[in-house]
Amino acid sequence: MDFELSPRTHELKAKIEAFMDEYVYPNEELYDEQLNSQDSRWQLPMIVQDLKKVARSEGLWNLFLPDSKLGAGLTNVEYAPLCEIMGRVHWAPEIFNCSAPDTGNMEVLHMYGTHEQQNQWLRPLLDGEIRSAFAMTEPAVASSDASNIECSIRRDGDEYVINGRKWWTSGMGDPRCKIMIVMGKTDPKATKYQQQSQVLVPTNTLGVEIKRMLPVMGYDDAPHGHGEVLFNNVRVPIENMILGEGRGFEIAQGRLGPGRIHHCMRVIGVAERALELLCSRAAERETWGRLLADRGITQERIAQSRIDIDMCRLLVMKAAWKMDTAGNKEARQEIAMIKVAAPKMALEVIDRALQIHGGGGMTNDFPIAYMLAHTRAMRLFDGPDEVHRQQIARLELRRQLGGYPKQRSLN
Ligand SMILES: Cc1cc2nc3c(=O)[nH]c(=O)nc-3n(C[C@H](O)[C@H](O)[C@H](O)COP(=O)(O)OP(=O)(O)OC[C@H]3O[C@@H](n4cnc5c(N)ncnc54)[C@H](O)[C@@H]3O)c2cc1C
Repeated sequence: MDFELSPRTHELKAKIEAFMDEYVYPNEELYDEQLNSQDSRWQLPMIVQDLKKVARSEGLWNLFLPDSKLGAGLTNVEYAPLCEIMGRVHWAPEIFNCSAPDTGNMEVLHMYGTHEQQNQWLRPLLDGEIRSAFAMTEPAVASSDASNIECSIRRDGDEYVINGRKWWTSGMGDPRCKIMIVMGKTDPKATKYQQQSQVLVPTNTLGVEIKRMLPVMGYDDAPHGHGEVLFNNVRVPIENMILGEGRGFEIAQGRLGPGRIHHCMRVIGVAERALELLCSRAAERETWGRLLADRGITQERIAQSRIDIDMCRLLVMKAAWKMDTAGNKEARQEIAMIKVAAPKMALEVIDRALQIHGGGGMTNDFPIAYMLAHTRAMRLFDGPDEVHRQQIARLELRRQLGGYPKQRSLN
């Protein structure tokens, strides 16, 4: 395994770090001020709009996309250190047009979209003009097993008619969110994994209704947010089907590998930021006549955090390397491992940072409480820990026993 930064990544990393130093960190307060002083919080603060133009003009744009004609053409190993830096500030990835869920949706359109679908939706997404959402999870069924989903996509002449209720449709609160990829069932009688399809639904289609926006442990996540969305006899042309009826699972598998590892890369950045906050607070706060930084328990926490972050980063890099060299399918155990390990590690580091800030850590005077809430959510989104652990264990059993689940005994 070679994790040496390529000359291109070196250059891009230096540019992104300089960009963050010059434009992002100094504007964190301004971002909050603009968000809160606008007519509505459901509107992108001007600072992000301005910085998107600067990033694009500097060539820091669509870095996630492995296609060198439409994106930067980086491998996963090359992209990982860049994505980590962007993850340090929650609104930074969008500046580089590298934010979820758009990156995953763009990859779906790139891999599986027709020429027309790409012209209509991929192009403006790549240009950062619109945003998108992915609607799979439903309140009525256990959606961590996506074969449970009930949303109906029924063909009627030249159209599909969609009926269902989704929730946690991230990005729906943003007025620039113009397109959703909706997963539903086209044929409930087909075999288990051929029932589902994914279809493109413009957000302004008649019958689409945002019932409410869901908070993440009290945070509204404006301007993007997470919607509970009703589909009431929503009609779209049959040309909006992606890849073909019954191929929803196939698309979901293709989408989730890169999407998951990108979340992990970003959360390493979150953990690094939390450790920085921990150290700087420890170096300035005195209790009972001694700096917190001089106390053994603080040093223990700092040391453990450094160990944990570095271990996790290596696992991210290993998963990225395996994706690059063996393909996403072959790397699925590593992707599942890092999807469990990275948020767990980051939550521990964030919790240590919060503790050292005392009561201040619970407020929004520091970004720590927000980091905690959002990193906690990561143990659920893109599949809860238990589902990933199940997959890791099954692959391990298969490797060790050969042919699992047929052969169940270890003896
Ligand atoms: C902030 C946030 C953003 C999200 N964004 C999106 C989005 O953009 N689009 C979208 O479609 N969804 C999104 N989700 C939804 C997320 O993907 C689901 O919540 C997740 O997949 C779990 O599905 P569920 O909520 O239906 O839980 P359920 O399926 O009801 O599962 C509940 C719990 O059961 C346990 N469990 C499940 N399976 C097993 C198992 N095999 N073994 C043991 N225990 C198990 C786990 O503890 C799990 O948390 C988002 C969620 C959050 C919190």
